[in-house]
Amino acid sequence: MSESILRRNPRQEWILRNRLHPQHQALLHQQASSEPIEWIGPQGVKRKAPHRVGFIGPKGIRRIDRSGGQQGSASDASRQAATASMSKPLHCIENPKHRILVVPDMTGGRLTSQDKDLLGLAHQLAALQDATSVVALIWGEHKETQLAEAGVDELIQVDDPQCLGFSPDQSLAWLLAVEREYQPSYWLFPDSGLGGGDLGRRLAVELDVHAATGLWQIHPSGDGVQCVCRASASTQDLTRPLPRVVMALAECAEPISDTLHAVNQLTLAAEPVQPIVRIQDLGSVAVDPASVSLAEAEFILSGGNGVKDWDGFHETARVLGATEGASRVAVDDGFMPRDRQVGATGTWVTARVYFAVGISGAIQHLQGIQSCDKVICINTDPGCDMVKRSDLAVIGDASDILTALRRKVSDLKQEKRHVA
Ligand SMILES: Cc1cc2nc3c(=O)[nH]c(=O)nc-3n(C[C@H](O)[C@H](O)[C@H](O)COP(=O)(O)OP(=O)(O)OC[C@H]3O[C@@H](n4cnc5c(N)ncnc54)[C@H](O)[C@@H]3O)c2cc1C
Repeated sequence: MSESILRRNPRQEWILRNRLHPQHQALLHQQASSEPIEWIGPQGVKRKAPHRVGFIGPKGIRRIDRSGGQQGSASDASRQAATASMSKPLHCIENPKHRILVVPDMTGGRLTSQDKDLLGLAHQLAALQDATSVVALIWGEHKETQLAEAGVDELIQVDDPQCLGFSPDQSLAWLLAVEREYQPSYWLFPDSGLGGGDLGRRLAVELDVHAATGLWQIHPSGDGVQCVCRASASTQDLTRPLPRVVMALAECAEPISDTLHAVNQLTLAAEPVQPIVRIQDLGSVAVDPASVSLAEAEFILSGGNGVKDWDGFHETARVLGATEGASRVAVDDGFMPRDRQVGATGTWVTARVYFAVGISGAIQHLQGIQSCDKVICINTDPGCDMVKRSDLAVIGDASDILTALRRKVSDLKQEKRHVA
């Protein structure tokens, strides 16, 4: 009888609610370690305890921290993510009979969300064949730490400095070397302007395959797999048997979320046949950050309803060399164009740094920035969800702080010029 009585500890609940309390972190960890929210049951099935998510609010009502950090800092969130991923079952293909090759874009050295969808698609195809492993082919060094979580069974890393810039002839030579050695059942590329779309088409020509482009769905059918592709400038869908070379659109499949993968290194026995190089890469040129699409931007300065001085905001973006983004309210109010909206109904961004100015952190906005590495914010409200999601939060008026930031940056630039 006594065991069914729920005993509350109001002081502990108060500390759990109060992020600034000195014992907050310690208690949070203690609670997380003693009461796991997810675990793998005896039959290998993932179990969840929905009642353990969140914390008890001041009115005795359970509150859920929508930032994903469970009232903790970003490092807590990543620690929780690491613990959760360690508890996932390992998907292991010992001696693969077939291989599916995925060539991700890896913008900024990390998987884009389209790359992750593509790995999900590869696993859908792998499930239709016996002992099939999903292989990712990556050019040079990368910074991705989530290859195992994203579904990479095997990895081919091409360390050829000539392939790091735009060198389609050299890259194609490597793909043909992989083709000769492993004979993959399918080649999957993201149908994007970041490299995958171009390289995939070149490979299809070389292999004499009528490639599927703009693919967004596959259906297993009696005599093989059918694919649905966008055609006629995306006005029509075209259904056809799935060819060996595929260029797929974003959201073509669900990314992998339930399993961990081995990421075994594969090597190539033979070097590629040296191609006739027709294109010479003369290096990168500086581009106007304002013209970079949000999905590709590495550094985003995003403005919301709390921005009162929009001229100052645009000037700060220029000084910092950041691409501009916005919340839906800022777009609806006409301060920013629609294509700059970040969030569930705007663009899902994968920036290395996301700088949110005067944005409260509504769930629809936070969904769009969940893949960003570091989040910085300026807000007058220390309790808002964006502050909880941020790695660094500056509490104060956005106009004053952006003015001080611009002044600091120009001082630093001047100092640098003097030293040079
Ligand atoms: C179906 C649906 C889809 C949606 N999709 C999206 C989406 O894709 N993207 C999106 O962003 N929203 C989306 N929304 C809207 C979303 O729910 C929020 O209304 C919106 O994100 C809020 O924008 P905001 O944070 O700029 O404004 P507010 O919520 O008004 O927040 C303004 C913030 O600025 C701070 N502030 C005020 N003055 C200052 C100052 N002087 N200095 C610094 N900070 C200050 C305030 O403390 C506050 O935190 C969607 C809503 C729905 C219903």
